[in-house]
Amino acid sequence: MNRLLIVEDETSLTSVLQRGFEAEGMRVDVASRGDEGLRLALEGEYDAIILDIMLPGLNGYRVCAGIRAAGLWTPILMLTAKDGEYDEAEGLDTGADDYLTKPFSYLVLQSRVRALLRRASRGRPERIEVGDLVLETAARRCVRAGREIPLTAREFDLLAVLSRTPGTVVPKSALLEEVWDLPGEGDPNIVEVHISALRRKVDRPFPGKLLHTERGLGYRVLATDTGAAESVRDATSTR
Ligand code: CA
Repeated sequence: MNRLLIVEDETSLTSVLQRGFEAEGMRVDVASRGDEGLRLALEGEYDAIILDIMLPGLNGYRVCAGIRAAGLWTPILMLTAKDGEYDEAEGLDTGADDYLTKPFSYLVLQSRVRALLRRASRGRPERIEVGDLVLETAARRCVRAGREIPLTAREFDLLAVLSRTPGTVVPKSALLEEVWDLPGEGDPNIVEVHISALRRKVDRPFPGKLLHTERGLGYRVLATDTGAAESVRDATSTR
């Protein structure tokens, strides 16, 4: 059962949201003050948090920053009034995952929360290293040989999935499921197109090849460049 925390001081709104999400089978806790919301967020194990910005006690930015400072990566959706109280960049800076402007329809909020829950099941931020490639999933940064490489969201997710298990061949069907949320359907060509784009950005400008096609099986990421091989040799020879 998914656990949801709603931190919002408009009680008429919270009761509607609580009823709605409980009707969907979630367990919902409510806090009407920021400090209380932060305490609950740190104590409880929530799958997602809906967080208002203008709150008594502690504002939503501070609550969000406090949750992240404690090393908790529960997905957070921030609520804002239309009068421009909310600065999207500031919200995302403090570690929010999404935002929604009031007034909103319950259906829109519901679909955003579902999207957050899907993302949450993919786990906390990681730093993935393969050879001279570094992926930071929280910042969605891709760096190779010290050079930052801009990637689209799909390209990043695809590279991350492959890089988590270096050397292992991942079938196209598994990539369609993990990266595109299309289990058992979806066009495998979409994977090929994104692999080509990744090759142009991540492999071609560098001497060593990371992305390998295993014909008829799938793809794998493997560091085969001479630099990586040498550093492995160096490491073993000094022992
Ligand atoms: Ca408020």
